[in-house]
Amino acid sequence: MDSVLLRNCRFVVTHAKKRVLENVDILIENGKISQIGKSIKGEAEEKIDCSQKIIMPALFNAHTHASMVLFRGYRDDQELQTWLQDIWKVEAKLKPKHIYAGALYACMEMAKSGTWCFVDMYFEEEEVANAVKKVGLTALLGCAIIDAIKGWDLERSKKFIKNVKGSENIIPVLAPHSIYTCSEETLKEVNEFSKEHSLFKTIHLSETRKEVFDCVKKYGKRPVEYLHDLFFLDEKTVIFHGSWVTKNEIKLLGENKVSAVHCPVSNMKLATGGAFPMREYREQGVRIMLGTDGACSNNSLDMFREMKVAALLQKWFRWKGSEVKAEEVLEYTTNSPCACFGLNSGSVEIGKDANLALLDVRHYSLRPLRNVISNIVYSATGNCVSDLLVRGKWIVKDGKLVNLEEEKIIEKMEEAVEDLLGEEK
Ligand SMILES: [Zn+2]
Repeated sequence: MDSVLLRNCRFVVTHAKKRVLENVDILIENGKISQIGKSIKGEAEEKIDCSQKIIMPALFNAHTHASMVLFRGYRDDQELQTWLQDIWKVEAKLKPKHIYAGALYACMEMAKSGTWCFVDMYFEEEEVANAVKKVGLTALLGCAIIDAIKGWDLERSKKFIKNVKGSENIIPVLAPHSIYTCSEETLKEVNEFSKEHSLFKTIHLSETRKEVFDCVKKYGKRPVEYLHDLFFLDEKTVIFHGSWVTKNEIKLLGENKVSAVHCPVSNMKLATGGAFPMREYREQGVRIMLGTDGACSNNSLDMFREMKVAALLQKWFRWKGSEVKAEEVLEYTTNSPCACFGLNSGSVEIGKDANLALLDVRHYSLRPLRNVISNIVYSATGNCVSDLLVRGKWIVKDGKLVNLEEEKIIEKMEEAVEDLLGEEK
């Protein structure tokens, strides 16, 4: 039996909204948490002293384009449309080997900053799947569906789904890019296929005001209403951004059990304006999750930073310091996405998969340690993470990837960047 005993854990954040435990043991057997308590007896193959650790549910990044880490720092500080044109130009040069190198580096970065699972939309997702498996994370992956790019259609997605079938840690999803890059016909096809095969469908929606204006001009209705009329909205629908929505649109999302991924850093950096109406989403019962978006518009994949900015943006926007609490944003990146995608994780409880992040209490960002959850959300960064367990297996130990040479991953990524951007100014 595979077993690990985490002994004398200084603090255990069992659940974003429950009490923090102190000085307890956690026994992990066959990838699942089997016991939590004081001085657990019994044999374990591995016993680790955790008297200097905070144990918390590992984090979940609900929106990424992992391979875009290759373009980190490229064409920053531009207007959205200019930026997009530049990115599309360089993306046209991408080959599968570049996508793999970028995704592998992104997986390393996510693992080392405490993220165990992410939702990705990009090209050649088989390459991303290989990177996820190599590092030992879990991911929901979808090949982008874009009408204007030949070959990136539903057929390509079907092929991807076939190619990754049976992988334990890869869950294929459908990923129509947006309502402005997919025709009504395409969206209908995707919707039908999603319902037939019970697949999640993820889509960028109402990210900018321009998108809303264009939609009203073309269809005479707003983006959410447009998708609602196509019968696209259901419990398997996940929208990215959803910032420019009316109360009526949020109501429609709630009634149809749609989930929304908020990406505050990307929205603020690209100056999409306004703020995600978190309060209204909550009131209408829409499930909220957090994501970084690509490392080209963020420019980090660190979910600790994302939690902090998500909370700050709401407080600032509403002129109300109590608008959002730390526990709430922690929930949006732990329990909430796991509940959305039906994963047995998101909390440190008996029977749950052991997807855990360990933080070193000696890190300067965590001192003084009077309020653990506040420190996690408002002060910690991914650098505080010392170890990561995914289904009871060590992925990161003492700050280093287990079983993989980090230098080689960095080298491969640098080569790909040189290949793609070497001649750029
Ligand atoms: Zn995106």
